[in-house]
Amino acid sequence: MRAAVLYGFNEPFKVETIELKDPQQGEVLVKMGASGVCHSDLSIQRGILPMMPPIIIGHEGAGTVEAVGAGVTSVKKGDHVVLTWLYSCGHCRDCGRGKPHLCDTAAMATMSGGMYDGTTRFKVGGTDMRHWVGSFSEYTVVPEQAVVPIRPDVPLESACLVGCGVMTGVGAAMNTAKVEPGDHVAVYGCGGVGLNVIQGAALCGAEKVIAVDLVDNKLKMAQQFGATHTVNPKSGDATEQIKALTDGKGVDYAFEVIGNVNVIQDAFNAVRRGGKLVIVGVPQIGLSISLPAFSFPLEEKGVIGSYYGSPRFRYDMPRILDLYMAKRLKLDELVSRKLPLDQINTAMEIMEKGEGARSVIQY
Ligand SMILES: [Zn+2]
Ligand SMILES: [Zn+2]
Repeated sequence: MRAAVLYGFNEPFKVETIELKDPQQGEVLVKMGASGVCHSDLSIQRGILPMMPPIIIGHEGAGTVEAVGAGVTSVKKGDHVVLTWLYSCGHCRDCGRGKPHLCDTAAMATMSGGMYDGTTRFKVGGTDMRHWVGSFSEYTVVPEQAVVPIRPDVPLESACLVGCGVMTGVGAAMNTAKVEPGDHVAVYGCGGVGLNVIQGAALCGAEKVIAVDLVDNKLKMAQQFGATHTVNPKSGDATEQIKALTDGKGVDYAFEVIGNVNVIQDAFNAVRRGGKLVIVGVPQIGLSISLPAFSFPLEEKGVIGSYYGSPRFRYDMPRILDLYMAKRLKLDELVSRKLPLDQINTAMEIMEKGEGARSVIQY
């Protein structure tokens, strides 16, 4: 079997033959069907996210269960699954309150690039190799908690997107903000995740969904995903344009999906009284924001963060796929290219140039 190995920052991936150990107690061997290529993969390659090569990555995957280790009861050989990129433990305080994305065990396992016990399952050239999810590999081993069984009639190349970008975007609107029917929403940044915030807000019944982006093509795409209005800051101050569309009041929720501190500060000004700014984009570590403090008590404005779309994995991922099968939510329109694993570096280059919505690796 083969996998794309990242040996060093800013180096291309090398597709190599790998060995994979059998799944251990509580683990699942997955034959990958498809993997989205996410911007976070590029951030790891560029050394922006704290994950050290050499490593096998890829974290937006869907596949078929090939074998299970001892004690695994929730999936069996042949089941179709989406992989989550956090290995939540399932029984800590945060998991217990329905916030598995905040699980400490998940954070530790994710950062270490190993399994819960810190050991590895991959070997390349006889040497142990760490992995994070490992959807850029024909097969991977992950903890049972990281596989979500899904209905078998969803094509895996569509289902994989729910593993990261779609969950993050749709979840920000449905779970984190809990957008209500009639709400007014603005979404800053109409890339892959932004489009999903837009369709999530539309699904929740938002009356106005205002897409904000500097690129007209992206605004056009945003309309396909449910944006009712578009704002290009090149043609005038975004806050003023948003207020003009909302009786001078601003929006109930402004989602920042870029990770730019200046845009975050601007977006706060487009939030109406009682509304919230939701930060979805990940700013560079160490940066701070400055906001008018009086707006918190006197206008009841607030700021919240959204991580991975505040998911309850085994509830949200299947229901998103049900909505897709019912044609209420778009997945395939997010995909601009399907490529084999050998072309992983091409997929990364395309993403870095900002061309197309998303590439999917097909196995
Ligand atoms: Zn991702
Ligand atoms: Zn936990």
